[in-house]
Amino acid sequence: MEILSLSALEIREKILTKKLSCQEVVKAFVEQIKKCQKYNAVLEIFDDVEEKAKEMDEKIGQGFKGKLAGVPIIIKDNILYEGKICSCSSKFLKDFVAPYNATVIEKVLAEGAIILGRANMDEFAMGSSTENSAFGVTHNPLDFDRVPGGSSGGSACAVALNMCPIALGTETGGSVRQPASYCGIYGLKPTYGRISRYGIVAFASSLDQVGIFSKTVEDNALMLEVIAGGDEHDSTSSQTAVDNYSCFENDCKYTIGIPKEIVQISQGMACQKNYQNFIDSLKKKGFAVKEISLDGISLCLPTYYILAPAEAASNLARFDGVKYTSRNKEAKTLQEIYKKSRSEGFGKEVKRRIMLGNYVLSAGLYDAYYKKAKAVQGKIISQFDKAFEQCDLIAMPTTIGEAFKIGSKPSNPIDTYKEDVFTVSANIAGVPSLSIPFGQGENGLPLGIQILAKKFDEKKIYSFANSFTKGEE
Ligand code: GLN
Repeated sequence: MEILSLSALEIREKILTKKLSCQEVVKAFVEQIKKCQKYNAVLEIFDDVEEKAKEMDEKIGQGFKGKLAGVPIIIKDNILYEGKICSCSSKFLKDFVAPYNATVIEKVLAEGAIILGRANMDEFAMGSSTENSAFGVTHNPLDFDRVPGGSSGGSACAVALNMCPIALGTETGGSVRQPASYCGIYGLKPTYGRISRYGIVAFASSLDQVGIFSKTVEDNALMLEVIAGGDEHDSTSSQTAVDNYSCFENDCKYTIGIPKEIVQISQGMACQKNYQNFIDSLKKKGFAVKEISLDGISLCLPTYYILAPAEAASNLARFDGVKYTSRNKEAKTLQEIYKKSRSEGFGKEVKRRIMLGNYVLSAGLYDAYYKKAKAVQGKIISQFDKAFEQCDLIAMPTTIGEAFKIGSKPSNPIDTYKEDVFTVSANIAGVPSLSIPFGQGENGLPLGIQILAKKFDEKKIYSFANSFTKGEE
């Protein structure tokens, strides 16, 4: 039996019916991770996985039937798993051991998941390629010379290369959907507040959310069912009831909104033809397609690159060489500890964001940048509210084109920031969005289309994706 290509649901079913043991499953995936080492997707395979698999086999033998019983997963390196290193792919935190479990970790473990290891990422989740990792770039699973996307590039690559059926990532401005698109898999950014952020290393707290990578819609929905929900440890998590996301609605007569501004922005981009193909296939499949407007959507990118660095500058202040991180050996005074430790600990992009964030928050410039960006965010939220009065879902490209070559955007960071032009709007508005694999670019590499919905309408997105892709097969 080809274990590696099974979905999480299939693995669970085979384990519960004793066709496979959890130990066999874990062994197969661990071997695959080792075989794929050259991609540099996984920073560490946890040393207790065999033991955990054995325990799970015993538990299942006693009648345990968790939703993820025996399912191996991989987590991004910014999610706290008690007793394991959580480095955020930063050399500053390379020896930091998580003192407690993130809520998402508690939840997946309670349902029987086996956490195989931690995945590479852009340092502190800042980037779109994993080139900002202190531990080397991750390679695209379909073209070794290209990036897998980022910042959750390791998680995406791991799923695409069958190192696990599901992986967790995080999103602040596209870090799950963009790599999902580059690697040809599904990637969900849920509604802000849908999943607890407790135990996730903060980047920009008002935007951060855990996200899910999978090869099937069903697996993605299953994982959301497990990890969604309110949490007393995170006051921004929502108490809104958790849907049974994996029970798809059958009658998906949804109206899909196509924002005219997005059509315009995509003119001349590598994604343009694919977007049109998607719209055509929506019509062919009988979905109602409606032109809508998201006025000011092009302001999302500059807004994001003010708000996210501003929050990052505050959040990263805690890494000071005293707590959490490594400390410079020569520093003699407290000031020197801060200065020297942070100077040698943080990578270039992280330093850039901290400087940018402190700049837009500085007394004389706060009104012109941060305050203005917050006002624009308010306008964008109301544009989305208006749009969802006219349609159920909105479709737009996930990325401007295929995965780019490693090292092709080194000098000007703005070039990389532009990668996020389509993804950041969902984060700014706090709405859910799923990137689904659709079409290919001129080099034969995967492209993605993202489907956005009103807050807490993830079930509608999954139902659409299920009915759309079923028709594709
Ligand atoms: N590329 C974006 C950035 O660098 C997205 C990051 C993210 O979603 N974590 O900020």
